[in-house]
Formats: sequence, C-alpha cells, structure tokens
Amino acid sequence: MTQAHRLDCEAAAADCRFIVQSEDESEAVELAKNHMRDIHGKDYTDDELRSEYLQTV
Ligand SMILES: [Zn+2]
Repeated sequence: MTQAHRLDCEAAAADCRFIVQSEDESEAVELAKNHMRDIHGKDYTDDELRSEYLQTV
C-alpha cells in the first residue's frame, strides 16, 4: 500500500483550495512551503508543516 503525504491549505487559509499531495514527504513539504510563502506570505518551518498541516493518506 502506498501512502501519500497531503497538505490541504484550507486548514491554514480558509479561502484557499490549494492541495499538495506527494508520495515523497520532503517534496510535499517543499511544495507546501513554497506555496505558503509565495501565495500567503507566511514562512513555515518544515517541522511546523509536518506536525500541523501534513496528513498521511
Ligand atoms: Zn494556500
């Protein structure tokens, strides 16, 4: 069974429908971090994204 790492931006920004999904956790974190910075102007650390937003599906 393959697990994917998923970040639903709606949990962080109510009006954003951006979703990151990747089987590679570091890639998911990287994409999420870029999105948060570029679109929302927020800097999250890898740990914050992993512990607070990233889900395994
Ligand atoms: Zn977003």
